Amino acid sequence: MVRVTPPRPLDITSVFPELAGLSATAVRLHPRPGKPTEWDSSVGGPILWPPDEPWPTCQLDHGPFDQVEISSPADIRETRRLLEAAASAHRSLTEQEQDELEDNLEDHRARSCDSPDELEFPLLPLLQIHAPDVPWLEMPHGAELLQVLWCPLLHDQTDSPSNGVGAPWISVRFHLDIDPLTLFTPPAPQLIEYDWFVPEPCALHPEPVTEYPQPAALDRGLAQRVEQWERDEYGSAEGVGTYERVFATAPGWKLGGPPQSSFGDERAAILCVCGAPMRYLCTVPSCEWDAGTVSWAPIEDVGLTEVRPGERRASEPTCVRVGDSQRLRIFVCPADRDHPVRSDIVV
Ligand SMILES: [Zn+2]
Ligand SMILES: [Zn+2]
Repeated sequence: MVRVTPPRPLDITSVFPELAGLSATAVRLHPRPGKPTEWDSSVGGPILWPPDEPWPTCQLDHGPFDQVEISSPADIRETRRLLEAAASAHRSLTEQEQDELEDNLEDHRARSCDSPDELEFPLLPLLQIHAPDVPWLEMPHGAELLQVLWCPLLHDQTDSPSNGVGAPWISVRFHLDIDPLTLFTPPAPQLIEYDWFVPEPCALHPEPVTEYPQPAALDRGLAQRVEQWERDEYGSAEGVGTYERVFATAPGWKLGGPPQSSFGDERAAILCVCGAPMRYLCTVPSCEWDAGTVSWAPIEDVGLTEVRPGERRASEPTCVRVGDSQRLRIFVCPADRDHPVRSDIVV
C-alpha cells in the first residue's frame, strides 16, 4: 500500500518565489510494521550481509552497565507483542504471559552476564535501502545498497551534540553478489540501553516530497519576511514556526533533503574531517508525525491519528525514539566513503 502526503495548504513558492531555487527532494520512507526480508528495503528488518565478512561491532567506550537492560532484541520485540496484544484486547498481561517474559529475561541473564569484560557489542540493523526503491535520489557514491546499523548503548565519546546516541555506522555496497543460500543470522546485542534502540521490523513505502531550507539556513532578509508572513497569516503566537512545520520540513524517517547546518551554529555547514561539506544522508526520528506536524500524516493514515492506551501509535511504527522527541541526523562524506560518518540530534 502506498502512502501519500497530503498537499500543502498552499504553494509556498507563490508567496516566496525565491524559495523555488532552494528546494530539494527528500524521500519519506513511511515505515510500517511488516515482514521485510533481506531483499527488501526496511527499518529493523534483516539485512543482506556476506557470510564471510565480519559482522561489525561497536568499538566505542560503554558502561557502566549497572543501569543497562540485559535483554535481547528478540525478547524486547516479544515483550512488545504481548503488551500490545493485551492492550488491544483491553486486558492486562495474564500470569502466564508475565511468567513467560520473566523466564526470557532470566534465560538471557544466565547466558550473557558472566563476564562483562568479555562482552562484544555487535551492531543492530537499523535501516536498509535498495537503490531501485528510491529512484528519486542518488545513492551515496552510486551504491546499490545502503545499510545503517547502530549500537543499542549510550556512549561517552562525543563526535557532536548527539552525545554518542546510537553511534550510527554506515555500510555502502556496490554489488549484491551475495549468495542467498548462505545468508546468516547476525549476532544479537546482549545489552540494550533502552528498548527504543530496538526497531520493530517495518516495510518501507518511499515517497518523494519537496522540502525547503530551515529558517536558520535562509538569508537573513528572507528569513525575516517569512517570519512576518507567519505572524500575519497564522497569528503572532501560534504562527511562529509554521513555515518549517507545515511547508519546509517533512517529519518522520527520510532520506536526503536540503543541506543542513550545524547544531549550535546555525549558519555553519557540517564538515567532514577532510573539510568537505557533508551530505545529509538520512533522518532517524522519534515519530512519523506529532501534533505540530500532523498535516504530513499520509492520506491513508488520517483515520489512525487516535490511539487507545497501550496500543502502538500509528505515528510510532518503528518503536525507535531519539532522546525526548528529537531526531538523529546522519551525514556522510561525499568525497570519500571511508571517512567517518557524523551524526547529531536536533529538535
Ligand atoms: Zn556502542
Ligand atoms: Zn571526507
